Amino acid sequence: AISIQGLVKSFGPIEVLKKINLDVHAGEVVCVIGPSGSGKSTLLRCVNLLEEPTGGKIFVGPDEMTDPDVDIDKVRRRIGMVFQQFNLFPHLTVLKNLTVAQIKVLKRSKGEAEKIARENLERVGLAHREDAFPAQLSGGQQQRVAIARSLSMSPELMLFDEPTSALDPELVGEVLAVMKGLASEGMTMMVVTHEMAFARDVADRVVFMDGGYVVEEGPAEQVIGNPQHERTQAFLARVL
Ligand code: ATP
Ligand code: MG
Repeated sequence: AISIQGLVKSFGPIEVLKKINLDVHAGEVVCVIGPSGSGKSTLLRCVNLLEEPTGGKIFVGPDEMTDPDVDIDKVRRRIGMVFQQFNLFPHLTVLKNLTVAQIKVLKRSKGEAEKIARENLERVGLAHREDAFPAQLSGGQQQRVAIARSLSMSPELMLFDEPTSALDPELVGEVLAVMKGLASEGMTMMVVTHEMAFARDVADRVVFMDGGYVVEEGPAEQVIGNPQHERTQAFLARVL
């Protein structure tokens, strides 16, 4: 679970997150939507301290990320993150991409790491491609490998920042299907997305951000289907 309490983030004089309060409960899928520049990525990046919060508190499970004494590396290990760019190691096979961090960071044996890697490749439908190099795969396949790599670290929650935005339209569905599968298995997920159909379909809760604020949040059918705030209505009218 994630608890974000009064989160403020400034870059120099510019405040891009303005006292954000948001909880993501265990097993819940929360989709974050909103216009470009509204602070969605910054919010996600604050959760695993890729950005240092300027104020407020963030808890991941029982651990306060914003406690100066927290062992950041240790807590971060419990959080998987998938970005728009897949960031696979180009010189390593798919299988190696999934095992290096398990061996180096989690100190798993090679055999154990490979077993877990293969289970996760199976999960994303790419068991047959373990010997391929990233450049030999489509964008959708590369993103599925990136998800499998994250899962191989046995995270307790997953953060996704527009995981399908860099993909050709015909490849978006296979990645969303993998994410939908994860959601149905009970993974705790925070997903920044422009895919309104996915949000409507999969999210337990949708959060609409604008100008560094959470403007509206609630069940998908409410926020997307029947938005109350005029800024949410204007955004949805543009994207739907
Ligand atoms: P998009 O939909 O385009 O990805 P976003 O909602 O993810 O947008 P952010 O990337 O979080 O928005 O950016 C929020 C604001 O913070 C923007 O005004 C952006 O210019 C600013 N910003 C983000 N990162 C930095 C940085 N490292 N330094 C300065 N300003 C930044
Ligand atoms: Mg962004």
